[in-house]
Amino acid sequence: MTAALPPAPTSAIDWDNLGFKWVDTNGHVKYIYSNGKWDQGEFVKDSYIKMHVCAPALNYGQECFEGIKAFRCKDGQVRIFRPDANARRMLYSADLACMASVPEELFIEACERAVANNLEFVPPYGSGGALYLRPLLLGTGPEIGLYPAPEFTFLVMVIPVGNFYKSGVKPVDCLVVDSFDRAAPLGTGAAKLGGNYAPVLKHSSAAKEKGYAITLHLDSKTHSNIDEFSTSNFVALTYASPEHGNNPVFCAPESPSILNSVTKQSLVQLAKSFGWSVDNQVVPFTDILNNRFEEVAACGTAAVITPVKTIERAGVTTEIGTAKTREAIGSGFHRLFTAMRGIQNGDLEDPYGWMQPAQGIAPRQE
Ligand code: PLP
Repeated sequence: MTAALPPAPTSAIDWDNLGFKWVDTNGHVKYIYSNGKWDQGEFVKDSYIKMHVCAPALNYGQECFEGIKAFRCKDGQVRIFRPDANARRMLYSADLACMASVPEELFIEACERAVANNLEFVPPYGSGGALYLRPLLLGTGPEIGLYPAPEFTFLVMVIPVGNFYKSGVKPVDCLVVDSFDRAAPLGTGAAKLGGNYAPVLKHSSAAKEKGYAITLHLDSKTHSNIDEFSTSNFVALTYASPEHGNNPVFCAPESPSILNSVTKQSLVQLAKSFGWSVDNQVVPFTDILNNRFEEVAACGTAAVITPVKTIERAGVTTEIGTAKTREAIGSGFHRLFTAMRGIQNGDLEDPYGWMQPAQGIAPRQE
């Protein structure tokens, strides 16, 4: 039996001119944890939340979040990309910041519920847009001492977002941030805590003003190995060689201080499915200086892949790859990008079960 189709995208939104910014929707889903358990949750229309002035989320940054996308697929159904992977990452972040854990089933239920109540805000199939889901866990009960909150709020808000690559995939310039360390050894870099992001803003904003679209962080201890970009993982492809069947090798730095990107995990699986080798070891910055990679990119939920054409460190600019890969996305990342977006759009088969099936996403009105 074929499932009924969800409501069409609302005509109140100009789908061709949607960016990555707040748009009012029907509302968000909110759950409260108190006395050792989560409640049933409710759908909330108000975009403002009320919390105690003494909430550790406000005073001590007891907070973590996630970022996920839902897509309107070729068959008309709406599906969420790998919410289970984000659920597991939030468990890690919550544990690090001493917060109540959101069980995987509850996390997925909340995502489905948020989408089901906002189906008309999922951009049209083929538009390149998506419904962005932002799960947020906050320590909201009053506690002025340095102790965990007595009450937590878990919510999932949604925002329709546009095609990141409306005017084509263009390689960008990158700046290494040497004057600030994003994540200390044995620190919180692998968790998606709000506190990891605010201190980077100053540096990424200054870099953007100078024309660098993204900023790269090296390992804090030695500043000699690549960690990740401020908002995405570092991934790279070596030049194809006969030694590797004339394929590139997919490289992603091994580091305890980087976020375990769901996009990167997916690209690794796709690269393996192409028969490519995957190299997950420490990547010294000298690999950039020595032109080891034909292609370098940032990867994450927002854009999937953003190719990088130059990396500047302390006034020295290194061009990545060849003139061709600096002009447009290289063939290796293009292949990965196409495969990934094909699965997300439902144009290609999903052999990995990444797209959360539509059952839980039937229209709801709460
Ligand atoms: N690294 C950082 C610091 C990020 O903020 C993000 C974005 O969420 C990523 C990597 C990419 O992770 P994902 O692919 O799960 O979006």
